[in-house]
Amino acid sequence: MKEEIEIPPDHPRAESLKIREKLIMNYRIGIVVPQGLIAHGRGEAFDYLIGERTIRPAFKAITTAAAAILLAKHPVISVNGNSSALAAKELVELANMTGSKIEVNLFYRSLEREMAIEKALIEAGAKEVLGVGNRASAMIPELSSERRKVDVRGIYSADLVLLSLEDGDRTEALRKMGKNVIAIDINPLSRTARYASITIVDNIVRALPLLIDEVQRLRFKSEKELWRIIRRFDNEKNLGDCIRFMAKRLMEIKKRNLLYPEALERFLKI
Ligand code: ATP
Repeated sequence: MKEEIEIPPDHPRAESLKIREKLIMNYRIGIVVPQGLIAHGRGEAFDYLIGERTIRPAFKAITTAAAAILLAKHPVISVNGNSSALAAKELVELANMTGSKIEVNLFYRSLEREMAIEKALIEAGAKEVLGVGNRASAMIPELSSERRKVDVRGIYSADLVLLSLEDGDRTEALRKMGKNVIAIDINPLSRTARYASITIVDNIVRALPLLIDEVQRLRFKSEKELWRIIRRFDNEKNLGDCIRFMAKRLMEIKKRNLLYPEALERFLKI
């Protein structure tokens, strides 16, 4: 898809602006809803706080997530408008590598939107997309939103669900159904981040390629080794480390008096 505005490559926020353009284009073709643009803004603010790079606790969560996907018997990748817009290719690559199913699951559900996302995923190489139209006929108990509808062959029978840019209610409901949940959510304070079994506090555009690399690296390890990785991980502690990282970084900016634009820009690049 062609970008509508030219973003100067030397612009300090070039990457972030390109991502915005991608979302806007996907909004125009009916994949992203206006609410999704707002949710992205919340994500951007947190990305700013971590310095727009993958932080150490996120690397740890990514390694653990890779081990968990490799151990899962019936892993499912849940896709919504924003995640499809930002990372359709990587989501499909991850699914194909790990034998995971892909399911469309939307808060603001309409058949047109589901089909637009299905099309984007098929174009990105997906062999099959679950959860579209009547295929989402099972229900997640305790949820009232349209998101409760799930595919019997997908999320409903999954032992592990990987989701991103998700709302907390659904994450909680999936956990109550006994599923392991991997969440990619750059906000360590969100309910999704706190309910998930493994939370990757990072931007989905950076996290997924790293997760794919980790799956590649770990794929021939024994189950025993994979379990060892999982046992060493504590999600609550990891979220605490992410929050500490953000707080420390803000204190550092203040302490070093980096509030002038050039000084702060230098610091952000460290
Ligand atoms: P919750 O219900 O879990 O407390 P919320 O109300 O913030 O969270 P939503 O707005 O539905 O939930 O979900 C958006 C979440 O996704 C936010 O936590 C936001 O920080 C995060 N997010 C937005 N963009 C990205 C991105 N590019 N990569 C990773 N996370 C993102």
